[in-house]
Amino acid sequence: MTSLIDLIGVSHSYGGPRVLDDVHLRIEEGSFLGVIGPSGSGKTTLLRILLGNLRPTLGNVNRAPDLRIGYVPQIETVNWNFPITVGEVVLMSAPANWRRPWATADERRQVAEVLEQLGLGGLQQRHIRDLSGGQQQRVFLARALLRKPELLVLDEPTSGVDVRTRHEVVHLLTDLHEAGIAVVLSTHDINGLAAHLPRIACVNGEIIAIGTPREVLTPSVLERTYGAPMGVLEHGGMLMVTDSPMLGR
Ligand code: ADP
Repeated sequence: MTSLIDLIGVSHSYGGPRVLDDVHLRIEEGSFLGVIGPSGSGKTTLLRILLGNLRPTLGNVNRAPDLRIGYVPQIETVNWNFPITVGEVVLMSAPANWRRPWATADERRQVAEVLEQLGLGGLQQRHIRDLSGGQQQRVFLARALLRKPELLVLDEPTSGVDVRTRHEVVHLLTDLHEAGIAVVLSTHDINGLAAHLPRIACVNGEIIAIGTPREVLTPSVLERTYGAPMGVLEHGGMLMVTDSPMLGR
């Protein structure tokens, strides 16, 4: 498998103690990884290092040449009152050679195509505030997909969305993964999202464990990750993590 990004002995500090320590992580072509861990455990720092937005204080980051990465921010961090339409949000991510104050007919066609692909056809002129949570999430996915990325990085893609939207997001990401795009996402949602992914990294200032849900969703790994005892149940062949350790021990 071709490696898209390789982190080798990566550590980071924002000036104080290390918030990530000695991380070794390989993101392979077409892979799908969920990053879980408590608040403040270093998930965002790890994503920012993968994106190339942040240079780690120690270690090496090897990136495939000309790697195209699409980034989807957490929708809760977006200013929804910003006066901008769906079409404009998507166009904003246009590749560098498109950066002119206007869009050509061909560029507009590509934007329309990617919106259509995500079931947002006809909404180009709509203000982003006037969309449902699921549609808003898909607008930012469309924006990331316009660059035809080999890797998609998403920050908490199901935070603040309802159950139906969460299902939509999981299906969409599964389709993109099946189309060959590598996906890395951070999430707090172990049962609704991480447990369904092929691979999970448990992070708490370091990578505590990495592997399939069955390998890492164990009481011992979860306790080391979250610093609190947790239980794991099996239901219909799926693992379910519970924060009451008496269940599923
Ligand atoms: P998570 O995404 O898991 O919540 P973060 O990567 O955001 O974790 O944060 C890890 C640690 O680094 C936290 O202790 C946080 O307070 C600290 N941190 C994050 N960003 C900065 C920053 N820009 N400056 C200083 N400290 C930061």
